[in-house]
Amino acid sequence: AAREGQNTFRFFTEDLNTAAWQRLALEQDLRRALEQESLELHYQPKVDLRSGEVVGVEALARWQHPVEGNISPMHFIPVAEETGLIRPLGEWALREACLQAMAWQSQGLPPLVMAVNLSARQLLQPGLADMVARILTETGLDPALLELELTETAVMARPEETSTLLQELKSLGVRLAVDDFGTGYSSLAYLRRYPFDTLKIDRSFISNITTSADEAAIAQTIIAMGHGLRLQVVAEGVETEEQATYLRSHRCDQLQGYLFSRPLPAGKMTELLAKGSRL
Ligand code: C2E
Ligand code: CA
Ligand code: CA
Ligand code: CA
Repeated sequence: AAREGQNTFRFFTEDLNTAAWQRLALEQDLRRALEQESLELHYQPKVDLRSGEVVGVEALARWQHPVEGNISPMHFIPVAEETGLIRPLGEWALREACLQAMAWQSQGLPPLVMAVNLSARQLLQPGLADMVARILTETGLDPALLELELTETAVMARPEETSTLLQELKSLGVRLAVDDFGTGYSSLAYLRRYPFDTLKIDRSFISNITTSADEAAIAQTIIAMGHGLRLQVVAEGVETEEQATYLRSHRCDQLQGYLFSRPLPAGKMTELLAKGSRL
């Protein structure tokens, strides 16, 4: 038993070393990617369920690693958070998204709400609201056309501090969205204490709405409660016509998902907007 324990320990430390090295290498590569501005944003449309029109887009970071290929933000955002690189990354993403929104406006496309994700760590970053204010001034984007997406768990990690921050952000005139709603443990009534405009129902509730009565009931309840609290409700991860039909019949406001479009590079998104594509 003792030998077994020793072996386990050895394997464990080796694994840990490998993981630590990989982390470090990834961190260095990410730092370089930021410096060389080789990260990109892709944009996924949000569609109004009544008119079928694109009313907004969400900016999603993409990293084409020179050796590893495409690395998912699910992988590199946590690395950025742990290493402090989230600060320059977040600032880059916000500026890039605002500049793109301005570029579409100057091409005469109808105004869209540009949504940008803020991670949990960013909410703790001193001077975050000042950074947002500075980028709005720098780029000239109307604050009413910027929406910041924050997850429910990030908000609830520090309810008091976040409340102050959200008031500061709200006073800039930007929109605030609760992302991944339903995956945390908080109630909508609790979230109402914060100045949110939009609630995004997590994809996990959407995938089974047409096959599971329970999931359908949850989605329906979130929509009704969101409306009761005067929030706009967006369904994420909508992949089928049946899901869209269900959501429309239950008065969900917008959908986002592969059914209408995957996240697209700026050029492809420009084409989609110029064509005036509808759901
Ligand atoms: P999220 O904010 O919940 O973004 C939605 C994710 O769902 C995106 O994954 C999107 O590509 C994916 N998605 C959209 N429609 C569908 C669908 O119909 N089916 C399925 N299966 N998936 C769909 P992505 O782009 O891989 O991003 C993952 C997460 O990484 C995001 O989740 C967000 O938390 C984070 N992230 C991405 N970009 C940024 C960024 O610029 N800053 C920060 N802080 N986080 C980011
Ligand atoms: Ca999001
Ligand atoms: Ca989400
Ligand atoms: Ca998510």
